[in-house]
Amino acid sequence: KSKGKKQAKAATKENKLNAVLGAGIMGGGIAYQAAVKGQPVVMKDISTDALDLGLKEASKILSKGMERGKVDAKKMASTLNNITPTLDYNAMKDADLVIEAVVENAKVKASVLQETEKTVADDAIICSNTSTISINQLAKNLDKPERFVGMHFFNPVHKMPLVEIIRGEKTSDDTVNAVVAAALKMGKTPIVVNDCPGFLVNRVLFPYFAGFSKLVLDGADFVAVDKVMEKTFGWPMGPAYLLDVVGMDTADHAAGVMAEGIPERMQKIGNDPVSLQYRAERLGQKNGKGFYEYG
Ligand code: NAD
Repeated sequence: KSKGKKQAKAATKENKLNAVLGAGIMGGGIAYQAAVKGQPVVMKDISTDALDLGLKEASKILSKGMERGKVDAKKMASTLNNITPTLDYNAMKDADLVIEAVVENAKVKASVLQETEKTVADDAIICSNTSTISINQLAKNLDKPERFVGMHFFNPVHKMPLVEIIRGEKTSDDTVNAVVAAALKMGKTPIVVNDCPGFLVNRVLFPYFAGFSKLVLDGADFVAVDKVMEKTFGWPMGPAYLLDVVGMDTADHAAGVMAEGIPERMQKIGNDPVSLQYRAERLGQKNGKGFYEYG
């Protein structure tokens, strides 16, 4: 708690205090990204194990940077020092920008957002990193929806330049502008989009995944499809490998949300390779087996 106070003092007008809720894959990555750009960040979770994992991930990225000669010991120490792990909402009471990145569950997010609004100052900005929940729906949990906006990072956060800034019906221009500026300060490339199922990227990506799934159901060999898309079409990876990176649980859930939100454009296939693997607990890289196996 006392460390949180020290960090809050370190924040200046130019170097505002960020807070990240959730120290998972995304929250940990976002905290690292702010910290490596010299910004103090409070990282809150509900368990010390989760906080340790978030910090470990940041150390791992920094160690890899050191191996490649891109990070020195000073940078490593200052980056880690910028992150204040906490279990206590109070540690983020002076935050200028809060990014919620807890589990993708509307009820959990509702309670976390309400608790956040009670804790921070009236002019603090509150963002959600949700992939699939409507920003307008989440905004209903807040007394001041004008200061709420989507801030959707991509995994892995330290490598992916894009951040989708999702404007809700009640989001103010000042909020959008502040979050665009915050994304730029974190070294990212923001785009502003309206609230809709899939925002921009998943709106393009999921019809592509659905097209791939139908090909596999028609009998296509997924390895051959990956080879074509990667080696000869020139994309960084094919659809099967990308689905292993995204995770079958996440992909199956997002496909369902999009089919529900825009049924005229997307239908859930049901017995497609993503759903089948999800039900068989082949989640992809996160548990070592999906389309491919990982040692
Ligand atoms: P994750 O499961 O890795 O991490 C979630 C973290 O939230 C866990 O550490 C958990 O302990 C913590 N948490 C749960 N309840 C909490 C609470 N009440 N207060 C504070 N922390 C709490 O999940 P993730 O993959 O990092 O996803 C987080 C969010 O980011 C989700 O909304 C997801 O849709 C979104 N997202 C995920 C990806 C991705 O590829 N994983 C990409 C973009 C956006």
